Amino acid sequence: MNIVDKLIDDLILEITGKEVVPLVNLIKNKTDVSEFKIAGKLKLSVNQVRNMLYRLNSYNLVDFTRQKDKTKGWYIYFWTFNLKLAKELAVSMKNNKINILRKRLEKESNELYFVCPSSCVRFDSVNVMEYQFKCPECGKILVKEESKKNVEKIQKEITTIENELKELKESEEKVQKMQERKLEKEREKEKERKLKKKKRLERLKQKTKQILIKKKPENKKSDNQKKVKKSRK
Ligand SMILES: [Zn+2]
Repeated sequence: MNIVDKLIDDLILEITGKEVVPLVNLIKNKTDVSEFKIAGKLKLSVNQVRNMLYRLNSYNLVDFTRQKDKTKGWYIYFWTFNLKLAKELAVSMKNNKINILRKRLEKESNELYFVCPSSCVRFDSVNVMEYQFKCPECGKILVKEESKKNVEKIQKEITTIENELKELKESEEKVQKMQERKLEKEREKEKERKLKKKKRLERLKQKTKQILIKKKPENKKSDNQKKVKKSRK
């Protein structure tokens, strides 16, 4: 899966719920999609679709234009997904997540946790004193938790998100470079076109000049004179 698609999916899942993900995927790379078309494709009612779109609109993730249906007299809305903003939002959400995970990591690394051998409860060092190291559910003695696993798990989560952000950055840079190269090529072509035009015009000028010279009677005369002079020599 493309990294942009992945991040947008994660974002939509987080802010509006998984039921909106297919809708976003449907309109993501298009512009001005009719809500009736969306409803038809997703096999939902227009009201259900509108409800989802309003939810996206509350985050400014969709823009719309409307058109009056002349025969039916009502308005039809055409929707466009704001991919640029969605990417920005996705990135800031991931960065937030990294911050939260880092705080948790710090706590997990510095704090002692106690757990019931039957996995009923998990207490930090303050709470465990309150319960005198006994599980309130089953009465077993609570034992010190091996924190290494949790720390590793959080670290892994952080690395995953960091890699996603890195991948996105690389892919965006790649797209930008491609666009720049395309622009550069177009500029080159334009230059070439202009040069060709210039040359063509020059050739045309030269030709007309030649024709004019041939047509000028005094020139003919002078030519003749020259010939005459030559022949005399
Ligand atoms: Zn227990």
